[in-house]
Amino acid sequence: MATYTPMIQQYLKIKAEYQDAFLFFRLGDFYEMFFEDAKRASAELEITLTSRDGGGDERIPMCGVPYHSAPGYIEALIEKGYKVAICEQTEDPKQAKGVVRREVVQLITPGTVMNGRGLQERENNYLASVTAFPSKFGFALTDLSTGENQLALLNSLDDIINEMYSMGAKELVVDHGFPEPWIKKMTERSKITISFEGETNTDGFAPIIDHLEDLRLKETFGRLLNYLQKTQKRSLDHLQKVKIYQLHDFMKMDLYSKRNLELTETIRSKGKKGSLLWLLDETKTAMGARMLKQWIDRPLLSEQEIENRLQMVQTLLDHYFEREDLRERLKEVYDLERLAGRVAFGNVNARDLIQLKKSLEQVPAIQAVLTSIKQERMNEIAENIDSCSDLTELLEAALVENPPLSIKDGNIMKDGFHEQLDQFRDASRNGKSWIAELEQQERVRTGIKSLKIGFNRVFGYYIEVTRANIHLLEEGRYTRKQTLTNAERFITPELKEKETLILEAEEKMVDIEYELFVNLREQVKQYIPRLQALSKCISELDVLQCFAVISEKRHYSKPSFSNQELLIKEGRHPVVEKVMNSQEYVPNDCSFSKERGMLLITGPNMSGKSTYMRQVALTAILAQIGCFVPAEEAVLPIFDQIFTRIGAADDLISGQSTFMVEMLEAKNAIVHATENSLILFDEIGRGTSTYDGMALAQAIIEHIHHYIGAKTLFSTHYHELTSLSDELPQLQNVHVSAIEENGKVVFLHKIKEGPADKSYGIHVAELAELPEELISRAKEILKSLEAEQTVKVPPAVMVNEEAFKNDETQLSFFNEMPKKKENNQVPKKDMQVLDQIRSINLLEMTPLDAMNELYQIQKKLK
Ligand code: ADP
Repeated sequence: MATYTPMIQQYLKIKAEYQDAFLFFRLGDFYEMFFEDAKRASAELEITLTSRDGGGDERIPMCGVPYHSAPGYIEALIEKGYKVAICEQTEDPKQAKGVVRREVVQLITPGTVMNGRGLQERENNYLASVTAFPSKFGFALTDLSTGENQLALLNSLDDIINEMYSMGAKELVVDHGFPEPWIKKMTERSKITISFEGETNTDGFAPIIDHLEDLRLKETFGRLLNYLQKTQKRSLDHLQKVKIYQLHDFMKMDLYSKRNLELTETIRSKGKKGSLLWLLDETKTAMGARMLKQWIDRPLLSEQEIENRLQMVQTLLDHYFEREDLRERLKEVYDLERLAGRVAFGNVNARDLIQLKKSLEQVPAIQAVLTSIKQERMNEIAENIDSCSDLTELLEAALVENPPLSIKDGNIMKDGFHEQLDQFRDASRNGKSWIAELEQQERVRTGIKSLKIGFNRVFGYYIEVTRANIHLLEEGRYTRKQTLTNAERFITPELKEKETLILEAEEKMVDIEYELFVNLREQVKQYIPRLQALSKCISELDVLQCFAVISEKRHYSKPSFSNQELLIKEGRHPVVEKVMNSQEYVPNDCSFSKERGMLLITGPNMSGKSTYMRQVALTAILAQIGCFVPAEEAVLPIFDQIFTRIGAADDLISGQSTFMVEMLEAKNAIVHATENSLILFDEIGRGTSTYDGMALAQAIIEHIHHYIGAKTLFSTHYHELTSLSDELPQLQNVHVSAIEENGKVVFLHKIKEGPADKSYGIHVAELAELPEELISRAKEILKSLEAEQTVKVPPAVMVNEEAFKNDETQLSFFNEMPKKKENNQVPKKDMQVLDQIRSINLLEMTPLDAMNELYQIQKKLK
C-alpha cells in the first residue's frame, strides 16, 4: 500500500480529531481542504475542485481559499450550519525540520461566532446546552459575543424546545449519550447544529459560577464551558456571572403562540418586518435592540416590576426634550457589550478603542440628562451609572484620533504618551527635516532645480538627477545607485548615515507602538466587567426611551392592572394599524368580567375576527413588557400564559398536517392553561369535517368553561355554537358587523354584542344576484335544516351547500345508522365507536391488533 506524504499524514491526523468540521489547513497563503472536505466545500462554496499528488495511489481531491479572503468563506459555511476548524502553521517554516508544525487554533461554529456576517448586530447569538437529569433538564445559554450566560432547570423537552426557539439558539451542546430521538425532536423545528461534549469540569471559572448551589446547574454549565474552551482555545475573560432564571418568573408562551402572534418574526416571511419587534424597535443602540427582543420574549409577571418600567416610560414620555437629547447621545454609543467580548478575545484594533472612547464620552452627558429630569428613579440611575471615566482618560491620553486599521504599522499612539516613543519620533522627524534641508542645499550647490531626494524600500534614500543635468554634478561626491530611462539616482555617505538613523527609529517606533497597544488592550481587559454593567444600564435606558417614543408616536395609553376584569376601550392591533394607516383602522372594545370570561366571536371571513383576537393578546403582552398599549384605556389582568391557535400556520417543515398542528396547539392550551391564562382559539375544528370540527369546538369550549376558567376568545364560523351561551354562563356572544352599501357587503370591522346573522351567506348570495328561485329555495332548505336541529348539543346540521357536498359520504353514513333515535341524534355510545373507528391507524396495526380492536368495538355495540 502506498503511503501518503508526511504533510498529508499530518493532515489526516489532525482531521481525525475534527470529523464534524471543515478543516482549513494552512499552506502558505492558502487554506486548503482535502478528500471529502474538498468535495463538499467545493460544492457548498462554489470553488474549483482540483487534485494533488499526496503519495497515495490516487490523486487527492483538493480545493482552497486564499488566506486573505477566508473570512467570507468561513462565514458562508457557518451560516449553513457547518463548523470550521482553523489549522495554522505554528512554527516558522524557515526553522522547521521536516513538515512545518500545524495546530488547530480555533473551531468556529454557528453558536460561537464572534464577528462577521454570521453575527447580526441587533440580535443575540446563542449557544445552548442541555443535560438530562432524573425528571429535570439543565439548560444553559451563552452568547459568546457578549459574554452573557443564563441557566435554568426545566421540566420537559417541550420547555427546552420553547426556550431554544424563542432565544433562537444556533447550536446545541449535549453529552455523547444524549438520546437520539430527543435530538431529533429538538432539531425538527429549527435549523440547529448539534455538538457533543462529555466533560463538565468548571475549574478556573469560580467567579462566574460560585453562586450555583445546585450541582445539576454546575454540571450543565460546565459542559458548555468545556466546549467553549476546547473550541476557542483562548481567554474567556469576558464571560459574565451566570444568571439563573425560572420559567415561572415570566409570562409563558409556547413556540406556537409566539409564532402565531408574530412577536419577533412573521409567519410568512420569517423576517422581522411586520412583527411586533419591528413595530417597537426605536432603539438607538445594538445593545438596546437585543434587550428589546429579550423583553418581548419574556414578558413580566411581577406587577411591581412592570409598574417600574411603565413609570419610567411615563417620565420619558413627559420629557420630550430630555428624551430627544438622550436619543442623540445613545446614537453615539457603540456596541460596548460585544466590544468587551472582542477585547477578551484579543481582536480589537485602535479604531475600536477610539469608538469605545467616544461611547464612554457620551456617558456623563447621559447622566446629566437623567439628572435634569426631576424624578427619583431617573436620578438614582444617573448616580449609579459607572461611567468608567478612568478608562476614558486612559484612552484619550494614549490614542490618536484617527488611527489606522492595522496595529502593526504605527501611528496609533499620541505624542507625550510614552517617552521613548517620543524620542524615536523626534529622531525620525528631525531626520526627515534634515533630508528636506539637504535637498535644498544640493539644489543650490549643483544649480539643478529639478534635483530631488526620494525614498524607496530597496535603495532607501537617494538623490535623483535627470540625465540632462548629470554633467553638473561634482565628480567623486556622488555614488551611482540606479539608472532610470531619464534619470540617475545617487547616494552620498552622509545621506546613508541619516537614513540608518531614520529607519532604525521608525522600526523601533513601530515595535514600541505595537507593544504599547497590546499593553493598552490588556489594561482595557480589566474594565470588562464594568463595561458590561454599563452596557446593561444603557440598553435598559434605550429600550425604555424606545417605548416612550412608540407610545407617543402611536398614541398609546398607560395600562393598569386588575385581577377582577379586563377592559380595553377603543383597542387597536398595533401592527395592522401601523401598516394600514391609522385613520382606517376601526378600534374595538373588549371586556371580560370575572363571571363572564369567554367570548364567542362569529362573523364572516375577512371581517376581522382574528385581528381582534390578536390585538387583545398583543395588548396584554405590551403591557407586561412595560410598554403602553394601543387603546384609549386598558385595565388588564396579569396573564401567566398566553395560548393561541390562529390562522393557517401549517407546519410544512416538520411534516405535520395542518389539522394535527391545530390539535397540538389546542392540547397545549388545554393541558397547561390556568384561570389566569389567556386563550385565543381561531376557527378551531375547521381543518376537519363539519361534524367532527363542530363537536371538537364545542367540547373544547365546554372543557375550558368547566375545568379551566381561562379568559378565552373563541372565533368560529359554526353559527350553531352561539346557542351555547344559553347553557354556559361564562360565555358571551359577539359578532363582527357588516352592512350593505350600494348593493355590496361592507365589513365594518366593528365588534358588536350578540351572534352574527345566521342567514348571512344567503344574504350575500342575494346581493350577488343569484336567481331569485335559487335564493328562495336556499331559504327553504335552511328552514328545514333548522327545524331538524332539535338537538341542543351539538346540532348536527349543515348550513352551507359546499360543506354539504363535501360531507355527503359522511351524511349518508349517519343516515344509515341503525340505532338512530327519534330526534335524529346518534347515540353517544355509537358516536364514540365511530370516533374510535376513525382514529384507527391501519398502517401501524398488525392483523392481531386489528382483531382485538374489532372485538372491542363489537363489545361496545352489544
Ligand atoms: P377574519 O379572521 O375574520 O377572517 P381578519 O382578522 O383576518 O379576518 O381580517 C381581515 C382583514 O380585515 C385584515 O387583513 C385587515 O386588513 C382588515 N381588518 C381587520 N380588523 C380591522 C379593523 N379593526 N379595522 C380595519 N381593518 C381591519
